Amino acid sequence: MKINLRKLKLRQEEAVNFLFTDKLNDQFLTDSDAALSEPTEIKLEVKRQNAVYYGQGTLKTTIEYTCSRCLKKFTQPLALDLSFIITEAENQTEFDEEVILLSNDEADLTFYIEGVIFAQVPLNPICSTDCRGLCPLCGKDKNANNCNCHIDDIDPRWEKLKKYK
Ligand SMILES: [Zn+2]
Ligand SMILES: [Zn+2]
Repeated sequence: MKINLRKLKLRQEEAVNFLFTDKLNDQFLTDSDAALSEPTEIKLEVKRQNAVYYGQGTLKTTIEYTCSRCLKKFTQPLALDLSFIITEAENQTEFDEEVILLSNDEADLTFYIEGVIFAQVPLNPICSTDCRGLCPLCGKDKNANNCNCHIDDIDPRWEKLKKYK
């Protein structure tokens, strides 16, 4: 996702605003078994201060996760505040934090946006805090129906103990 800051650079505008509503490429979420299930809305305002451009805005999207307990898909809305710095490559060393580089009056926000979304993805997403997950023996979804498996009977350590009874 690129934004053009030419007007700001030429000082034709004090601030420039951008509004995107797009289905983003969500390949960066594939390894997390997640996806962006709806278009992402990004609102930005970028202001200039000398050779530095300060961007602020909001991001709204919906992420589809795979529950780590029951393996069902579920969606969760996500709303984030955005804040970033854009500058020309020659000024990059003045910043301790990561900056987005301006090249040919354009700044590519793709990695920044992917990074802020990715930071919100939990390691083990769960559809609900009381999700009961799948039965490890028969594989049935225990949220939907109770199976009659008795895990204790199968544990080999218990089998050995029983012989001594
Ligand atoms: Zn679940
Ligand atoms: Zn079972």
